[in-house]
Amino acid sequence: MNKKTKIVATLGLVSDSKEVLKQMIENGMNVARLNFSHGSHEWHGNIIKTVRELSSEMGISVGILGDLQGPRIRTLVDEPVEMKNGETILFSDVTYKENVISSELKSIILDVPSIVDDIEIGNEILIEDGLMKVVVKEKENGVLTTEVMDGGIVKNHKGVNIPDAKLKISPITEKDEKDLKFLLGMDVDFIAMSFVSSGKNIEDLRDMMKKILGREDNLPQIIAKIERKEAIKNLDDILQHTDAVMVARGDLGIEIEGTKVAVLQKEIVKKSLQAMKPVIVATQMLESMIVNPRPTRAEVSDVTNAVVDHADAVMLSGESASGKYPVESVRTMKEIIENTEASPFDDVKHILTLNGEEDFKMVIKSAYELAKNSNAKAVVLGSASGFTARLFSHFRPEQPMLVVTHNKKTYQQLALVWGIEAKLYERGEVFREDIDWLIEDAKKQNIIAKGDKVILILGRTPDGEHIRLIGIKEV
Ligand code: PEP
Repeated sequence: MNKKTKIVATLGLVSDSKEVLKQMIENGMNVARLNFSHGSHEWHGNIIKTVRELSSEMGISVGILGDLQGPRIRTLVDEPVEMKNGETILFSDVTYKENVISSELKSIILDVPSIVDDIEIGNEILIEDGLMKVVVKEKENGVLTTEVMDGGIVKNHKGVNIPDAKLKISPITEKDEKDLKFLLGMDVDFIAMSFVSSGKNIEDLRDMMKKILGREDNLPQIIAKIERKEAIKNLDDILQHTDAVMVARGDLGIEIEGTKVAVLQKEIVKKSLQAMKPVIVATQMLESMIVNPRPTRAEVSDVTNAVVDHADAVMLSGESASGKYPVESVRTMKEIIENTEASPFDDVKHILTLNGEEDFKMVIKSAYELAKNSNAKAVVLGSASGFTARLFSHFRPEQPMLVVTHNKKTYQQLALVWGIEAKLYERGEVFREDIDWLIEDAKKQNIIAKGDKVILILGRTPDGEHIRLIGIKEV
C-alpha cells in the first residue's frame, strides 16, 4: 500500500535532470519545492517543465511549490570580519553606511535600507544560522554599537536574524514580487511565504495573486512558513487565513531557543490538523545524508515523530537539493514513513473534531465513522475543489483515500494532503462515470479487488443537484 505521509523535496543542481527527478518521483516525492533564495528563472522554469512532463508521463500527481525568499536580512562586507567575544563591533545598514566609515572599529552593514531604525538597545543580532551573536549596547545616527557574545568570522551575504525587533520590513520584497509573477506565469500549485507574522500578510499575498492573475479562483495555495516569534504568537490568526503551513525549523530554531523547537513543532502540527490545514515539517530531517548514504538514528527518529503526529508531509532541503544522495534521501524517507505507518504508533488516539457543525461536515464525519466501523477496503470520492478530500483526510482514516477530480489544479494540490491518492479525469465532470473509472483503475493497481467493499462519497445527483451522499458499494 502507498505511504500516507507525503514527501516534499527541495530541488537543486544535484536533482535537476530528468533521470534523477524520475527516480525521486518513483521513490515517493509528492511535491517538488523550488527555493527562490537560489537559481535563475530560466533554471526554475526548466525544472517546472520537466516535473510536469514526468507527472503526466507517469500518471502520478506531483505538486510544485515555489518558496519565496521573503525579507531575509543579509550581511554586506568587502572582506570577512573576525569578531572576538567581548569585542565592540559597529552595525549599520545601506541607508546609514556612510556614518561608520570614519570609525576605527570593525563594522558590518545590513543589506535592508533603514532596518537599523527598527532595532533597539538590548536586541540580539544573530548571524549565519545563529552561529554568531552580538547584543546592541548603543544606537546613534543609524549606527549600532554592539558587544560580541558568540564570536566567529562574518562573511558576505550571510543570513541575519533579529528575533526581538519589531521589524516593519514588508514580507513581500521587490524580488518576491518578480518571483511571484514568474511562478504564477508557470501555474505552480503552492506559494510558500517566508517570515509570515500575521493573517494579514497572507491576505496581502492572496490579493496580490488575484490582481496579477485577474481572477479570484484556482489560485495556488499559500503555505505560511512558521519561523518567526511573531508567527508563533499569531498562529491562530495565521491558521484562519492560510491554506497550508510549514514548520520552518531552520529559522524557527534561531528565532526561538533551539531546545523548544520540537515541542513547538508538535503544537503547530496539532493546531494545523484541528484547523484542517495541511502541515509540512521541514529542515534538517535527514541532514547527515547531504554527505552520508545513511541517516543517523536520531534523524530516523525525527521523521518517525512527525509521522506519528500525523503531519501531512515531511520535507527534504539540502539533502535533495545539494547533497550527494538526493534519490537515496527520498527513498530513506519513504522507508521510514512506511515502517512507522505499519506500526500501531501512528494510529489516531482521539477523533479529530470539526470546527462548526455545518451539515456537509457532519456528513463527512459520518462517512469516516462508516469507514472506521466497516470492513471497506478504500474510500472513493469525487472532489472538484479538493475541499471534500481534505475534510475526509482530516480524520486520518486507515483505508486508502482514492479521489477523482476533473480539475488539474486540485489534482496537483492534493499531492500535499495526507493519504490522498488523486487521479485526474480528463473528460471533465461526468457524474458517476469518473467514479466508475477510478474504481476500475484502483482494481488494476491492486489497491482493491473484485468483491471488496468501498465507501463512496458523492457530491451530486445525476440531475446536478448538490447533495452529499455516502454509501457502501461492492466493486
Ligand atoms: C527553514 O528556515 O526551515 C526553511 C524551510 O526556510 P528556508 O529554507 O527558506 O530558509
